[in-house]
Amino acid sequence: MIRTGFQNIQESYLFSEIGARVRAFQAAHPEREIVRMGIGDVTRPLPKAVTAAMEKASREMGDAATFRGYGDEQGYAFLREAVAGYYADKGVRVDPDEIFISDGAKSDLGNVLDLFSDDCTVLIPNPTYPVYVDTNVMAGRKILFYEGSGENGFTPLPDESVHADIIYICSPNNPTGAVYTREALERWVAYANREGAVILFDAAYEAFVRDPALPSSILGIPGARTCAIEVCSLSKTAGFTGTRCGYTVVPQELTRDGCSLRRLWLRRQTTKFNGVSYIVQRGAEAVFTPEGLRESRENIAYYLENAAIFGAALKKAGFSFVGGENSPYLWTKCPEGYKSWEFFDWLLSERGIVGTPGAGFGTAGEGWFRFTAFADRKSILRAAELLGK
Ligand code: PLP
Repeated sequence: MIRTGFQNIQESYLFSEIGARVRAFQAAHPEREIVRMGIGDVTRPLPKAVTAAMEKASREMGDAATFRGYGDEQGYAFLREAVAGYYADKGVRVDPDEIFISDGAKSDLGNVLDLFSDDCTVLIPNPTYPVYVDTNVMAGRKILFYEGSGENGFTPLPDESVHADIIYICSPNNPTGAVYTREALERWVAYANREGAVILFDAAYEAFVRDPALPSSILGIPGARTCAIEVCSLSKTAGFTGTRCGYTVVPQELTRDGCSLRRLWLRRQTTKFNGVSYIVQRGAEAVFTPEGLRESRENIAYYLENAAIFGAALKKAGFSFVGGENSPYLWTKCPEGYKSWEFFDWLLSERGIVGTPGAGFGTAGEGWFRFTAFADRKSILRAAELLGK
């Protein structure tokens, strides 16, 4: 009766285990100060432009003259046009018809798998955002990994001898903070087109890309429109983790087995999803106004400054790390001889800093450790000070 995939799914102990160890430490040492750099949730409030737009939209909903019921199928045109404009400013051509508004990237990453048969082979980076693995285990798909390492800077390239149908790429990456170069994405696009594979490109951290030489979308890579779906979110771009809004771009040219994936996704969404609230879509639209963009970028700059401060402290203390420049994550090599959880315990007991053990993101994360820059400045400065002790 129950799908076997759900019976095969492993419990996720990572954040509950972190919580349990921190609570045990606090109970044993109530006098000790603890600085948290473990959670990937934003801390800055929504831009004022966003809350003002949502207040206005909320008043419209309470007035018979401006009230709205069910929204447009793919999301309101005003928001899809704003998203298309955001891409155009980056020099990437996306048609509003190819954009689908959702309640965030996690839902779309899971839901998009409805389009693919369960016998597809899936290629996932190791280490990885765990959702890619779990959603495919639920469906019972065969999973292969491509391995990140210190040697390849956690931006591994395709192994041409391996066949895959679905490929996950996350750049800037969670958990490693690594960002693919244009040349590396060109390699992936060429490989996917040759294999007939579909790339699911997770651009949740695109707003952190500050280096103009680095791509923040796969859709600007020649050939991507015949092999890639881009999933994005306002969660990290504009602090929408609790407000919920994202978008997925399915290019017109993307077809498999003679079917347009855009058409299938439209069919899937109109069958199983009734859209994001008008109020939230108006708030999301405001993100892309000059004022909204300015405020969102100020928040991103704040997190990036946090990352720079903590990165400098890591360097000074002799640690090597990836990320932290075009990403809120600092993926740090544990000291020689320490496994991820051993380093977690050492850092908590000796320095009072909480991070996330890399082993929780896959076998290739063993010996690595994730710090996040989503915190207030005071905590970051304190963590930098504690680390240097
Ligand atoms: N993709 C990655 C890589 C993430 O790290 C996250 C959230 O942390 C998501 C997607 C989910 O984002 P959303 O809040 O839009 O569901």
